[in-house]
Amino acid sequence: MIYHELGTSGIRISSLAFGAMRWQNEADCRAIMERGMDAGLNYVDTSTGYVGGQSQVWVANAIRERRDDILFSTKTGYGQAHKAKEFVASLAARLKKLRLDHADMVQVWGIETMATLEAALAKDGTVAGARQAQKDGLVRHGIGFTFHGPPEVFKAAVDSGEFLSATVSYSLLNREAEPLLAYAAERGVGILIMNPLAGGMLALAERQDYAFLRGPDSGPVYGSLRFLLANPNISAALVGYRVPAELDESLRALDTPDDLAEPLRRDLIKRIEGVARPDGRFCTGCGYCKECPEGFKPPKFMKTMRDFALYAGDEERLVPWLISRYETRQTVADALARCVECGKCEDVCPQKLPIISEIRRAKAALDAK
Ligand code: SF4
Ligand code: SF4
Repeated sequence: MIYHELGTSGIRISSLAFGAMRWQNEADCRAIMERGMDAGLNYVDTSTGYVGGQSQVWVANAIRERRDDILFSTKTGYGQAHKAKEFVASLAARLKKLRLDHADMVQVWGIETMATLEAALAKDGTVAGARQAQKDGLVRHGIGFTFHGPPEVFKAAVDSGEFLSATVSYSLLNREAEPLLAYAAERGVGILIMNPLAGGMLALAERQDYAFLRGPDSGPVYGSLRFLLANPNISAALVGYRVPAELDESLRALDTPDDLAEPLRRDLIKRIEGVARPDGRFCTGCGYCKECPEGFKPPKFMKTMRDFALYAGDEERLVPWLISRYETRQTVADALARCVECGKCEDVCPQKLPIISEIRRAKAALDAK
């Protein structure tokens, strides 16, 4: 196992860690956690909400006898502004129910806007509650946040100095957060990666085009995780394992750590961009093109086309692909019909993508069927 310090917290964390939102049943959860802890995974990211409320109970049962082997992280309610006292009381009740005497970390879950951040940081807000819980011994190490918003909110959260980690969505297919990883790392805040396999999509990238992601006897998870392991700003990737074989596959990504360096990372970026567009340009989902005067949503459309290129690619499948993202044929046709080709979206696209010709291409595919 490769270990990193979580920011400047002094906490030693394994570079692969457990996500806890995809367990299929308690037996698999236990088997995966035991095997993972044996392999050195030492962090589990939980919430009361995962797997219909069962996940945290199953995790607690799996780690109770090995409590010193693992850092148990729990979360506040998603985007909720808890009062400090209520938060301490609910955490104490939760830990009692789980028969754990402490959590190692608390994540303020779902920082999306400046308002949610300010509410969390308010004098009697969630962070004050988490600090009190720390004093009371209910939380051993400290507080992190999970992030789902614009960069300025992320930076304000980091700059508040209250958080020892940030949990961020990032993967080979979704690199929008890259500058934020560096921003946090420079300021001593550890980075935990959620969706390291793009919500599982990278694990399914079986097209021949993705052969470069495969390792010896391994599927595309191998290269996808090595991409993250090669980034020195990342402390750990939280992988939502469903079955034991997925754990084994992810561990293979650690087998030969000698090439885990910047050239590998750059090479993987170049190759994945080459899959999407021969010129290497690729919709990053930045959203800069969202202000369409006709009410069309170019970011959603361009991400749909990007994913089509990544996962399907066969022009015959374009219409069903569009329908799968827009629900019905009529919905996608109506959305595309809004575009009057004014060019405003293309003017602001940092990737200089041919949005209008992609819209024409989709319209032509619909007309042909
Ligand atoms: S070109 Fe079409 S999609 Fe782009 S801003 Fe103009 S109307 Fe909207
Ligand atoms: S501006 Fe370009 S890269 Fe950004 S979302 Fe729109 S199409 Fe994608």
